[in-house]
Amino acid sequence: MHTPICPTSFTADDTINRLVNLMKHSLSLLALFLSVSLVNAQDVIIRAGHVVDVELSTVQDDQMILVSDGIITAIGTDIDIPSGARIVDLSDSYVLPGLIDAHTHMGLTRQARRDFGAYYFTTLLESTAYRAIVGVTNLRSMLETGFTTIRDVGNAGNYADSDLRRAVEEGWIPGPKIINSGRLIAPYGGQFHLQPERKDLAEPEYFFADTQEELRKAVRQNVHYGATVIKIIVDNQPYVYSEEDMAAAVDEAARMGIRVAAHAYWDETAKNAIMGGVVSIEHGTNLSDEILQLMKDRNVYLVGTDFPRERSPREYDARIDRIARAYRIGTPMAYGTDETWYRDGTTRGSLSLEYIDSYLEAGVPSSYILKMMTVNAADLLGIADERGVLRVGLAADIVAVNENPLEDITSVRGVHFVMRDGVIYKEDNHFHWDIPMVIGD
Ligand SMILES: [Zn+2]
Repeated sequence: MHTPICPTSFTADDTINRLVNLMKHSLSLLALFLSVSLVNAQDVIIRAGHVVDVELSTVQDDQMILVSDGIITAIGTDIDIPSGARIVDLSDSYVLPGLIDAHTHMGLTRQARRDFGAYYFTTLLESTAYRAIVGVTNLRSMLETGFTTIRDVGNAGNYADSDLRRAVEEGWIPGPKIINSGRLIAPYGGQFHLQPERKDLAEPEYFFADTQEELRKAVRQNVHYGATVIKIIVDNQPYVYSEEDMAAAVDEAARMGIRVAAHAYWDETAKNAIMGGVVSIEHGTNLSDEILQLMKDRNVYLVGTDFPRERSPREYDARIDRIARAYRIGTPMAYGTDETWYRDGTTRGSLSLEYIDSYLEAGVPSSYILKMMTVNAADLLGIADERGVLRVGLAADIVAVNENPLEDITSVRGVHFVMRDGVIYKEDNHFHWDIPMVIGD
């Protein structure tokens, strides 16, 4: 082989090489042009009758929202409509950011007639594969109902949640954006009460970790197998995690930029988790004003998961009281359901909107419940720079309802339009989904 020094020394081979290179260059330009055309073809203009600002609790009338390549690129009264843009008419609707459920379990569905309502039996009767398949239906219904992001806090067998996230991200199935916890890290026994001849029944559902070294290792393994948040069960056994234990897990997760959520019912254990550096207390059923104040001071979210009255009539009044106290004190709250039930005639999505009633009954205004379901949840999940409000530069996660949700939050039970990352999944109350074409290698 020789190397040309100047153009005059070109051989026939060089000329052919140059031609080939020129053709390659032209083809790549053509490919670039085609891909740009495809992106342009996906531009969407939404004519929005009313755009809800969930942070300020205000409404702007007669707006246009331009969505390009999955991102909100303009909002205003007078936007130049790009040629070929698809126009979506929501001029009679209230348009708001997609909803977020910050505590859910796609891979766990309890059916009283099958498992007697105890998910202990779920782990006996259902394989990880079966739970993932049921999870596909749960995900679809969440998206259809208006949830464009969920935090799936585990109970999914052997990492069904990681595979559900992967399948949504790769476009195999429709679903919200997922932040998932992998296996639940817990002291020996997890949330079960085992008998010594059946020690293995709680695994892989739970990841036993009884020392700080085991906690660190459990965090690492969860991340290795696809967890994007860590969930720790602090207090389901008589032996609970200390503040130092929680700090070790939080430290290990933080090295990888991952947040820790703590399942805790009681003051003492919630305090260990808060002082250990977690971002949220899940459930927090029995928290005193003192701990709710501590959470406010340290910006730790309460994800109350308070069931509607018919699900837990005995505890309901105490739960409503705890919501009211948290709201009065100013503890940051995010919407999370902990929904795992199946009921005939419902979907996971519709059931997940029943929890709104608990907050209304506790006297929380609709405008704050909407914050809990959008901007607050996005902040808790660490995605506030990406989602949770309608703003230029953020992901186009957009839903529409008929009535003003700032005045009556139950209007979100009538979501008739759903866009996630710029893709329209529901329009005119009709859910549709096409496997998106993937351009590239
Ligand atoms: Zn839960």
